[in-house]
Amino acid sequence: MRDREIGRFARDSRHAGTVARASRSLRWERPAPARGQSLSRPQRRNARATEGGTPALLQPAASSTIVSRSPHASFPHNAFTVWAQIERRLRAAEGWVLFLDFDGTLVPLVNHPNQVRLERAVRKLLRSLARHPHLTVYIISGRRLDNLRKVASVPGVHLLGLHGWEEPGATLPIEQQQVLREAKRWLEPRHPRSSGIWLEDKGLAIGVHHRGASPAAGRLAKQLTLQARRRFAPELNVMRGRKLWELLPAAVKGKGEATRELLRDLPSHTLPICIGDDASDETAFAALRNGMTLHVGGKGRTKAKYWLRNPTEVREFLERLEVVANCRKPSALSNS
Ligand SMILES: [Mg+2]
Repeated sequence: MRDREIGRFARDSRHAGTVARASRSLRWERPAPARGQSLSRPQRRNARATEGGTPALLQPAASSTIVSRSPHASFPHNAFTVWAQIERRLRAAEGWVLFLDFDGTLVPLVNHPNQVRLERAVRKLLRSLARHPHLTVYIISGRRLDNLRKVASVPGVHLLGLHGWEEPGATLPIEQQQVLREAKRWLEPRHPRSSGIWLEDKGLAIGVHHRGASPAAGRLAKQLTLQARRRFAPELNVMRGRKLWELLPAAVKGKGEATRELLRDLPSHTLPICIGDDASDETAFAALRNGMTLHVGGKGRTKAKYWLRNPTEVREFLERLEVVANCRKPSALSNS
């Protein structure tokens, strides 16, 4: 199955604050923008909305709403078995931006999203990385931003919710909010409590969870979500997560689009490092073909170039990155 996204995706200026913060965190001089890239991220969003849509490069396929793993994926290498190669690449970069997923990446997966806890040592590590003058750190999650703040707030680390769409002040058109409410009302009586499926009302998204439930419950969750999407098309998209199906507003485009746009506003020699475990991370892996992409969860079908076993190995990777970053003298970076 190929990575696929569908829907018409609205453009707006919601990421202005994030981009501004990210820009402030970078202390080296920006290179001149490439042709056609002189607009800021929010300006580009507005321009595309005015022009009536998404550029061809970003157009999703029209036949499905599902974002899932690719059958054409290559076989990635374990990051630590090819560490010398990775280290060379890290050392060659003039700056780095980390795009980190949260659940299943920085913290182990648990049955209920509210049960997670970011370890103190990981917080400390992220704070230290974010302080580095040539390193910018984002946590991009499918959670709502408010929820993400409660569990992942670390000084200097930028947080984006709803797969990169949501930052402070983000709002959804009233019509799409209304459609989401209707979709939830439609779903509620259709999933038996005994099935093990439970609905998570994220306000701007609906999660249909089946973690810990039977395979039959997983099939039912998928069926219900796709039925809801068909019923409320084209206002809603569907994304597949781990033991989760999500109904999202059409405006939410996924991590691929979010990371690509954030990267456009960073200096051109910045190396993007993207780490995630979920189907939604695959869109970012595909978008960052020239970056360093790492799939968490072992060797599997993925568009990432490397893999890590679990959040413990993610932590080890970040610790190694910190060592490399600290070995680089700021003057050497600035003058390179
Ligand atoms: Mg995840």
